[in-house]
Amino acid sequence: MEKKEQLYEGKAKKVFATEDPELLIVAYKDDATAFNGLKKGTISGKGIINNQMSNRLMSMLESKGIPTHYVQELSQRETLVKKVQIVPLEVIVRNISAGSFSKRYGVQEGIVFQQPTIEFSYKNDELGDPLLNTRHALALELATQEEIATIEDYSFRINEALKSFWLSCGVTLVDFKLEFGRLQDGTIVLADEISPDTCRLRDSKTGEKLDKDRFRRDLGGVEEAYGEIMRRLEANI
Ligand code: ADP
Ligand code: UDP
Repeated sequence: MEKKEQLYEGKAKKVFATEDPELLIVAYKDDATAFNGLKKGTISGKGIINNQMSNRLMSMLESKGIPTHYVQELSQRETLVKKVQIVPLEVIVRNISAGSFSKRYGVQEGIVFQQPTIEFSYKNDELGDPLLNTRHALALELATQEEIATIEDYSFRINEALKSFWLSCGVTLVDFKLEFGRLQDGTIVLADEISPDTCRLRDSKTGEKLDKDRFRRDLGGVEEAYGEIMRRLEANI
């Protein structure tokens, strides 16, 4: 499949048209941002890891009955995906308190929840992706009630599948962000990426951070952490 014109360049990926109007090519970059674009940098080799990790995990989820946009890995950094209309919601599932949850509610990081929790934010960079509830999403007509129910159901099923996969790699899944989209016929599918950029992943024994928190918090060893999490995935998938 040939790459045609570039449709979009985001913070972490470029998106290209193809000769098939229902397919796109995404190309993963090494650029990293945090705090809504305020912190910028490069994580060498990240694009390759995020591309490959996202594709392996989406294939695994497909095998468990979760529809995704994944079609075919084209190269180290490029993947063919189904074109969707992105539902402008960032869906965050959490198993353990961290990041903005701890800050917002004034609780320490590392509290293991009795049950996973979910929240939505409005995917809108200018507004800083504000948190919203499902009634707000309905009022703003970001998605229908049925779509929101499907997205919630898939998100918790994805959490169970990812949690148990990462556990088999000696890794604890703290939280992660998902994006969903609509195919032309309206079917909701998982889109975007699942990677150390969008998940908090910790070594189960030592608690070592193996994700973008190393970049966000200037902890050093960022490339090494991405390499380590990719090796764990490849050894177990
Ligand atoms: P951002 O837009 O947040 O800077 P990226 O750099 O990752 O993020 O850019 C990728 C863009 O492509 C995102 O806006 C994402 O919502 C969108 N996207 C992801 N998967 C698909 C898809 N299958 N079809 C259409 N758009 C997609
Ligand atoms: N996340 C993401 N993109 C965002 C915001 C969050 O991928 O724009 C992921 C983040 O990597 C973490 C989870 O969602 O795994 C929860 O992030 P949180 O709300 O705690 O925000 P942060 O601490 O990143 O501000």
